[in-house]
Amino acid sequence: MAKIKMKTPLVEMDGDEMTRVIWKMIKDILLNPYIDLKTEYYDLGLEYREKTGDQVTTDSAIATKKYGVAVKCATITPNAERVNEYNLTQMWKSPNGTIRAILDGTVFRAPILVDSIKPFVKTWTKPITIARHAYGDVYKNVEYRVPEAGKAELVFTNEKGEEVRETIHDFKGAGVIQGMHNIDKSIESFARSCFNYALDMKQDVWFATKDTISKKYDHTFKDIFQEIYEKEYDTKFKESGIEYFYTLIDDAVARVVRSEGGFIWACKNYDGDVMSDMVATAFGSLAMMTSVLVSPEGFYEYEAAHGTVQRHYYQHLKGQETSTNSMATLFAWTGALRKRGELDGINELIEFADKLEKASIKTIENGVMTKDLAALSELKHIKTVNTEQFLVEVKKTLDAMM
Ligand code: NAD
Repeated sequence: MAKIKMKTPLVEMDGDEMTRVIWKMIKDILLNPYIDLKTEYYDLGLEYREKTGDQVTTDSAIATKKYGVAVKCATITPNAERVNEYNLTQMWKSPNGTIRAILDGTVFRAPILVDSIKPFVKTWTKPITIARHAYGDVYKNVEYRVPEAGKAELVFTNEKGEEVRETIHDFKGAGVIQGMHNIDKSIESFARSCFNYALDMKQDVWFATKDTISKKYDHTFKDIFQEIYEKEYDTKFKESGIEYFYTLIDDAVARVVRSEGGFIWACKNYDGDVMSDMVATAFGSLAMMTSVLVSPEGFYEYEAAHGTVQRHYYQHLKGQETSTNSMATLFAWTGALRKRGELDGINELIEFADKLEKASIKTIENGVMTKDLAALSELKHIKTVNTEQFLVEVKKTLDAMM
């Protein structure tokens, strides 16, 4: 069978540890045999980030703006331990943070549902998509460890040199302070991405902040959402039979737990970080959570929601067998290939992405799965497989479907 041809390259962002191992396996076993894979390769593995002074991360984000679609492997965000382990000259910033700062946009995370794995929250029968604002707040903060007594102030100087000053705290001794920001333009595009995605998916949007406590910061988010909704989306939502719903973050959490799912939960940056892991775990496994960053300019970056699965990587290095779940990384590839197919008008590529997703879900529903899922599945007959075997089994299912 002739391989599927591509027109525009995908921006391929390679990564670290176990997910880097899986990355290559997915390409070798499930992509290269079927597609004349066209990618522009960027090595975001920590060693190469160190070698290039992290320039490679910036370059990969710029390439995403050029071509439109990227697929990213999980990467290490260095901490003090990693600085020693990899002999780093600097504690490089989170690549995801750098990429998000360049592309702006919103991260949508949704679980991959399989019949035999029931969510921990019994009422959740439909996926909950978390839309995480991908700019600013604590991820772009300025922090200061206050060593002694003194006064901390918030100072804003406009272009004319006029100052506004407000006391944060009169410290009587040591403490901490933190400055955060966000910009209207980014909040507006966050709102629009959520409302557009909701219209695409025909799902309600829930949004929540802590505007009762944060009367200016969080309240601005609430106001911007409301204004954009009323001006641009109210009619379209009514025509689609969907709703926009705003509430306080604590109320939202309580309602989400009692809901049946099937909506988009728009979250501020930090809330989205925390809630997406909670939702992923409750739906079964972090390894079954997909993630896509959608920029307001229409650029897409697909990835798995999980990290580099460090523990499995160390087993792998010792020559021990691993049973790492490759579903979310595989769905990052299929998501990116499908989007590339849509943008370039290549139906074969779209169909291939659909089939590969179906084959992987079918494989699990047939009882063949990695250890993490075997522990959750309600099936009676389960064949637990190792990392590579799972991909080989998916290939068998795929070949049978073709
Ligand atoms: P992790 O997601 O790698 O692992 C968290 C837990 O989930 C572990 O117990 C792991 O065994 C399990 N798990 C995750 N994915 C799995 C999979 N595919 N199959 C089976 N089990 C899976 O997160 P971590 O351990 O906190 O972080 C490891 C590294 O990943 C860190 O260096 C961190 O900086 C990085 N990280 C990267 C990203 C990203 O690139 N998007 C996201 C999170 C963490």
